[in-house]
Amino acid sequence: MVDFRDTGTEAAFRTTVREFIGGEYEPRRSQIREEARRAAPFERTPAMRAWEGELAERGWIAPAWPEQYGGAGLSVMQQFIFNEEMAEARAPRPGGIAIGMAGPTLITIGTEEQQAEHLPPILSGEAIWCQGYSEPGSGSDLASLQTRAVKDGDDWVVNGQKIWTSGAHRADWMILLARTDPDAPKHKGITYFMLDMHSPGVEVRPLVNMTNTHEFNEVFFEDVRIPSRHILGEVNRGWYGAVTTLDFERSSIGSAVGMRQSVDAIIDVAKEHQGSGMSSLGENEETRNALADRYIEAQTAMMISYRIVSMQSQGMIPNHEASMAKLYAMELNQRIQATAMKVLGLYGQLGGGDPYAPRRGRYQYGFMRSIANTIEGGTSEIQRNIIATRGLGLPRG
Ligand SMILES: Cc1cc2nc3c(=O)[nH]c(=O)nc-3n(C[C@H](O)[C@H](O)[C@H](O)COP(=O)(O)OP(=O)(O)OC[C@H]3O[C@@H](n4cnc5c(N)ncnc54)[C@H](O)[C@@H]3O)c2cc1C
Repeated sequence: MVDFRDTGTEAAFRTTVREFIGGEYEPRRSQIREEARRAAPFERTPAMRAWEGELAERGWIAPAWPEQYGGAGLSVMQQFIFNEEMAEARAPRPGGIAIGMAGPTLITIGTEEQQAEHLPPILSGEAIWCQGYSEPGSGSDLASLQTRAVKDGDDWVVNGQKIWTSGAHRADWMILLARTDPDAPKHKGITYFMLDMHSPGVEVRPLVNMTNTHEFNEVFFEDVRIPSRHILGEVNRGWYGAVTTLDFERSSIGSAVGMRQSVDAIIDVAKEHQGSGMSSLGENEETRNALADRYIEAQTAMMISYRIVSMQSQGMIPNHEASMAKLYAMELNQRIQATAMKVLGLYGQLGGGDPYAPRRGRYQYGFMRSIANTIEGGTSEIQRNIIATRGLGLPRG
């Protein structure tokens, strides 16, 4: 039988997290939200900085990192509880590439000097990082990337282009994959660099997405010099370091809780506007059924997350299970956003500037932004390939 209840120590830890959120986040909630509404994507507002200071005091900026590197060294179950409680309270967390990818990679394959230089500014939020992997011709088949780095004295000289680089316009550093041996088999000639984004020859050009938001960019490199001490791991073995980095992108409880909250929020807004012509709830059986289906599916997303954490807490490394979680959550988010459109009808399509837009245009934005969910972080087709081959043992197509 599956027992979902906390043990005594887990329950005590949950209470600690809840009390912390109640004492430190709740009084700041409205100010953080108000400032965030006016801020640009990736901007750290004063209220957010103050909240981050509280998290930092407890090592909860990076709860999964070992204590010796400035994290909280939480166990898998404690991380799960922490993430779940933070998501339930909708408490924002610093994260992104710096905490979620660059830091863990530095801890795993970085030298002591690299760790000493980069981990403190990541934890204090001073250093913002972006991820330079994808290129115009290399996304799913990442190992085919063409950006070149050539050794010149103690530096490497980089030429080429990255694309879809989220937050590059605000980043101080990039984790960058570049080809250093064009004659080697494609996985074996790639090196993993840390690039100072303020270096001469780096040009960041904005790409504005269909929600009219500047989130990602094109990044061009023209004779950009990177000192050898900024290589992560070994020359020509960067692919293996990058795979480690991708392995840190796995937790999914936050997004599973978020899905359930989104369904609850649609139900709230639908009830609020019932009878006003803005909501089809009550008039349309299809809408009610769709909401019921989304509710069930959100519970399924939670169960998939429970499975992953249960594997991790037994020392197993989720592999195709992580692809299942990603695939299911992202496709579910698209269905949830589409259901919101159905419930709110034409009003749901109104943008933030329109006085008739429910929840200040959140649903228009959510629907359009969700389109990218099944592309970013590995497309749904690629996740299905992983589940089919590694999970079900099917032959490659
Ligand atoms: C919002 C957003 C943010 C992003 N942020 C970043 C970032 O910060 N840094 C970064 O490096 N990248 C980022 N990306 C890029 C992202 O990782 C790639 O878009 C993604 O990996 C897909 O690559 P691609 O766009 O080149 O598409 P392609 O790989 O060209 O795929 C095109 C289509 O072909 C399908 N396909 C490809 N290969 C196969 C196959 N073997 N079997 C079946 N179908 C296949 C794909 O599923 C897709 O439908 C971001 C993307 C988005 C949308």
